[in-house]
Amino acid sequence: MNDKEEYLNYLRQRKSSEKTNYYLAGEKELQKIRSEYTDRRPRLLLHACCAVCAGWPLEYLSETFDITIYYGNSNIWPAEEYEHRLSELKRLVHEAWNDRIDIVVPAYDNEAFNRILEPRKDDPEGWKRCFLCYEARLDEACAYADEHDYDYFTTVMTVSRQKNSQKINEIGKALDTKYPHVHYFFSDFKKKNGHIRRNEIIAEYSLYNQQYCGCMYSYRPDQD
Ligand code: SF4
Repeated sequence: MNDKEEYLNYLRQRKSSEKTNYYLAGEKELQKIRSEYTDRRPRLLLHACCAVCAGWPLEYLSETFDITIYYGNSNIWPAEEYEHRLSELKRLVHEAWNDRIDIVVPAYDNEAFNRILEPRKDDPEGWKRCFLCYEARLDEACAYADEHDYDYFTTVMTVSRQKNSQKINEIGKALDTKYPHVHYFFSDFKKKNGHIRRNEIIAEYSLYNQQYCGCMYSYRPDQD
């Protein structure tokens, strides 16, 4: 099977196959967490790619967790865009959270990250290049969470309708095995009107809402 056939096959299967409801899996986990953590709030490292995607997950998760944001997004190109998304995230944390949430910003290295993506640079958005991208960023966040004694880690990316939540959750779950001291929190933040609240927060804080996903391969000059 060539690449194109494999992709079309994947799209067909994706439409017809039964999907796991990761929103419900997350809700179930929240109930368990609330019954287990009776003497303290669990610590969660939240990978966030931008302010527009972080707004709703922060509201939802802060009811249960003490959150630290991890802005590990070396996929974003160019550097000015990476900086702009970071400054919007900082502004949201300042205006909506009174700076009560810390943001960890690891070193930005788009050149190294592109070496991961480059072999699949011609893929359509949502295909294997994106799976590599999800995995690299989640792995980096999970390694940090594991090393710094977080109880849980997850990503805001499932709030986006453009991202494959099934794949993101599968990758997150697999990292549980690789990093046994930290648990992946299942999510599908767009569900139960999460996407509506996302848009309300964007309007409320006049957040910069980028027109492309992030890497140089997803950028189209006519989007400017
Ligand atoms: S389109 Fe988005 S998710 Fe896919 S590789 Fe580029 S930055 Fe990553």
